Amino acid sequence: EFVKMKVKQKTKKTKKTQKKKSTSKQSTVEVTDTEYYTVESVVGSKLEGREVWYSIKWENYRDRTWEPDYRLYCQKKLVAFAKTEVNTDKYALNLQENLENLNESCAENWNSFKNVYDPLAIVGQSTVLGGSVKFVNLDTVGSKILFLNYIHQHNQHHVLHSLKFPKFKILDTSFEEYRKQLNYLSRAFDEYPHVSMHFPPQACTTFYSPPPLTSLLFEPITEEMLDNRDTFPYHLPPKSDKITFNNVKVLVDTAFIESDVRAQEEFEGMQRKHYGMNSRFGNSLEIRQEEGVGWKLTVGHAVDADSPLMMLTGVIRHRSVALESLRSEGEEVAFSSFIEIPGTDYCLDRREFYDFSKYIPHSCNPTCSIRLVESGNEIPDLVLYSRVRIQDSNPKTISLDYFGGFVEDVDKYFARKKAPDGRVFKLYDERIDFVHCHCSNECRGVLYIDKSNHPKEEKATKKDKLSTLDSNFDFGGMRLVESDKIWKIRNRQFIE
Ligand SMILES: [Zn+2]
Repeated sequence: EFVKMKVKQKTKKTKKTQKKKSTSKQSTVEVTDTEYYTVESVVGSKLEGREVWYSIKWENYRDRTWEPDYRLYCQKKLVAFAKTEVNTDKYALNLQENLENLNESCAENWNSFKNVYDPLAIVGQSTVLGGSVKFVNLDTVGSKILFLNYIHQHNQHHVLHSLKFPKFKILDTSFEEYRKQLNYLSRAFDEYPHVSMHFPPQACTTFYSPPPLTSLLFEPITEEMLDNRDTFPYHLPPKSDKITFNNVKVLVDTAFIESDVRAQEEFEGMQRKHYGMNSRFGNSLEIRQEEGVGWKLTVGHAVDADSPLMMLTGVIRHRSVALESLRSEGEEVAFSSFIEIPGTDYCLDRREFYDFSKYIPHSCNPTCSIRLVESGNEIPDLVLYSRVRIQDSNPKTISLDYFGGFVEDVDKYFARKKAPDGRVFKLYDERIDFVHCHCSNECRGVLYIDKSNHPKEEKATKKDKLSTLDSNFDFGGMRLVESDKIWKIRNRQFIE
């Protein structure tokens, strides 16, 4: 555990050619070595144009240095820093209002960006793809604005309510209510595997609000079902006004639960094949918090290889919506929200409605993958399954390779550049945006390289880059499904 932590906290340290005081306006640095150094703590922040820089205290070094956000890989330390930067009570109360005022002009207002929006972005970004990859964006201000706008527009505010640890008495009461409602909802969908939630022990310093119950789906839905949510016999439960964890509304309206039991029994959904008597999923799952990462899905007990674990949900939309989101909301949002459904023109849109599989981290050598499975209607189900036996020593982790669809692109890029070694540093030096992985298991390192047509232009903002994405880039969601073959599940086993 200790060794793993050390690996996670490693980061790139740059050395300035001349020693200057921290007030210096000079922002150019010369990379004199390509070693990784361990961050002891983050102690300050400043804006350099559209880049956020942090003052870093290094382990075993006395001098502090300023480093741009995109070179750092120390999410837990950044979250700890964000907590020291905000008044947590005021922050939670003004959250909604702050996000409503968020726009590009904040980038010019040093104080509001550094003091209000940057701490919010640090907390929000730690939950993207289970916190296991780093989106390297040279225009850090622009990419953080895009990400916070997404949180505001898609009702994801709960991910920001993490800077304050609630009193355990309040936590326990809220959690009891949450668990009751979760059990109620999952009973209406007998196919959904049992997911038990574990709240953090007292020793933890960060508390992540749990996923809102009104955002959780237990089967995929169509846009038609979503648009006609009041009349269609599919019910998206209304949000409760009751404030629970850290001033967040994550519960279902209790009046709905009391009055709507019968309606739930008559639930028709997508008129799927009825699997109740021959349940497809027999393994229980767990969801628990990890510091600097947020919620994480694991198996509840050892499972054999090739076991179907759960069905992925979301809103079924045309695949062009995924590309549209990439262009307007950026890679962080699009890559963590859209999954391609091969053999169809559709994808699963998981921006506002999703299931617990949203809390599966990326790994370059993952324990799980996804297969298409017959659903009884025209769009097959996406089913998560174990590629290997997952057990305690493994350590029960569910992981997916989200970036397999980009392997060829990345290889081609580096073949052209003839750069087998030092890939990451080459991209830093050439000022190109990319996605950086630090998983320790046969890690590919670089998972995605910016596909815009002027990635290197000195003053290009994130918006500029996204607006010139290569027109041949046919993004229809992440390629998580291993093939377009459609399987059947009988007695909790895949059959052809
Ligand atoms: Zn990796």
